[in-house]
Amino acid sequence: MNHTPLDILQHTFGYGSFRDRQADIVNAVCQGKNALVVMPTGGGKSLCYQIPALVRPGIGIVISPLIALMQDQVNALKELGIRACFLNSTLSFPEVQQIERDMVSGGVDLVYIAPERLNKQRTIDLLARVDIALFAIDEAHCVAQWGHDFRVDYLRLDILAQYFPSVPRVALTATADSRTQEEIASRLTLDQDAWFICGFDRPNIQYHIRQKKQAKKQLIDFIRNGFESCAGIVYCLSRKRVEDIAQWMQQHGVRALPYHAGMSHQLRQQHQNIFLREEGVVIVATIAFGMGIDKPNVRYVVHMDMPKSLEAYYQETGRAGRDGDPSTGVLFYGMEDVVKLSQMAENSEGDETFKRHEQQRLNAMLGLCEMITCRRQALLRYFGEQLEEPCGNCDNCLIKPKTWDATEAVQKALSCVYRTEQRFGAAHVIDVLRGSDNAKVKQFGHDRLSTYDIGSDMSVDAWRTVFRQLVVMGHLQLSSSGYGNLMLTEKCRGILRGKEKIYLREEDKSTKAIKRKVKTVASPDDMPLWNALRALRKELADEHGVPPYIVFNDATLKDMIQLRPRTKTEFLVVNGVGDKKLEQFGAEFLAVISEY
Ligand code: ADP
Ligand code: ZN
Repeated sequence: MNHTPLDILQHTFGYGSFRDRQADIVNAVCQGKNALVVMPTGGGKSLCYQIPALVRPGIGIVISPLIALMQDQVNALKELGIRACFLNSTLSFPEVQQIERDMVSGGVDLVYIAPERLNKQRTIDLLARVDIALFAIDEAHCVAQWGHDFRVDYLRLDILAQYFPSVPRVALTATADSRTQEEIASRLTLDQDAWFICGFDRPNIQYHIRQKKQAKKQLIDFIRNGFESCAGIVYCLSRKRVEDIAQWMQQHGVRALPYHAGMSHQLRQQHQNIFLREEGVVIVATIAFGMGIDKPNVRYVVHMDMPKSLEAYYQETGRAGRDGDPSTGVLFYGMEDVVKLSQMAENSEGDETFKRHEQQRLNAMLGLCEMITCRRQALLRYFGEQLEEPCGNCDNCLIKPKTWDATEAVQKALSCVYRTEQRFGAAHVIDVLRGSDNAKVKQFGHDRLSTYDIGSDMSVDAWRTVFRQLVVMGHLQLSSSGYGNLMLTEKCRGILRGKEKIYLREEDKSTKAIKRKVKTVASPDDMPLWNALRALRKELADEHGVPPYIVFNDATLKDMIQLRPRTKTEFLVVNGVGDKKLEQFGAEFLAVISEY
């Protein structure tokens, strides 16, 4: 029987409709296009190859570097009634042989393969004997040498186009700037007309950035304001701090577990498993934690120290809310973090250019902390994307920050950049503004400029903040030379002509706890049912030996609470309930729902 993509979406996956560009992507791949898909985390990339693999005759081959995740991915598919398996180094030889036989006889729908397998002639011979529906290359940015996560094993993927030219390829990633996209497309020989570059935005994540003031207390206050029983990740800069914070949280009744490179592999693995399998566990970690974690219902990510770049910040906060439900990213920053990070960059192994870049990234990060307008707009702008309107879902949009009229200071700053011919970095421009008599100022004759010594009423630090904020807001930009010299942009015009006012953030003195404006879990009346459904889910998950979210994710449970289905037909309407899950779990969930 031939199924359409929509049939499969509804009956197998239990979802009512495709999201955003999923339908276009699925159609293109079904038609045999070689597609490139760049979609943010949680956007729904998996369906983009899983459904075409089921629609097209033959087996879908998924190449993924995340061996640790394969088991869970395969389990999740099996729970949907899809015949899935994986081939990687964790299998015994007899197991491998069995899977190979199944593949040749067409007894599987989807096979996950580790990229290093493609270096083996045995694998190539096997694939030659198998009817293949498509190749999906997950984490495709790993093929790009330009990218940040290059893997040698991925280079071998050029054989796909050579040996299997008629099998469609679909490359998927959440992170690829335009240069990386080019490189992926050229290495994998993808079709120019089948690029699907979706926006970078994660609209369900609410961003909050606060100055540190008794950070531990701020953390507990935040959790107690609606996140008590939620899974979360708390990032810290050092191992010592990880231990300290985890302990503090435990003392305050939060189930927090440490995770850092100083712990034994075994203990780390154990903590990671508890985090994946149990409800409401918080991992306190250094940045070593996260790669390959795709727990969908992480409700918050807290940074107890400032990350070293916007790239890191975005990637780490991005681990919240993969399921699309409201989630929060909180950052507590302090000037001491900046000093520490700056020293780390200075003491690093890298050359001068590297160090300069690290400082610039750090400044951009600090700029994001200090800005007063929409954080999401600034983040997306940094990644080359334009968000027309303020997002309404970050702290600056939700609670107006206290500001001061900085128009005059900004005019001074901008004209000093102009007078010094846009050839210097902030440090020098500030020296000129503050009337320093150092050698460099004299050497360039900048002590004779009209902007010399017009800003000695403000401290160096105060000026630094002004410059950082101007860069973040896009009034100044760093030249591409890499030397950090500041240049004016179009946006300055109104201010320089005195036609526009500009306000900057006043030092944040409030200690009020962060409160999400959106309810994270069910309303109080629904709490008993919510808890009962979660308990049943956990019980069934343990029976099946899978994490709870593989039985049903939070969004599906919430949909049950909303719809309160009474019959099997009604249960099928719930988002995330397909035929197989209805059959497996329907009766038990319906029984619980009917009790409330
Ligand atoms: P990605 O790989 O892009 O991070 P996933 O493929 O894991 O994202 O999907 C993220 C979540 O969104 C999953 O829980 C998935 O089941 C859900 N999802 C994906 N597509 C849809 C859809 N069309 N309707 C409802 N939920 C969807
Ligand atoms: Zn905003």
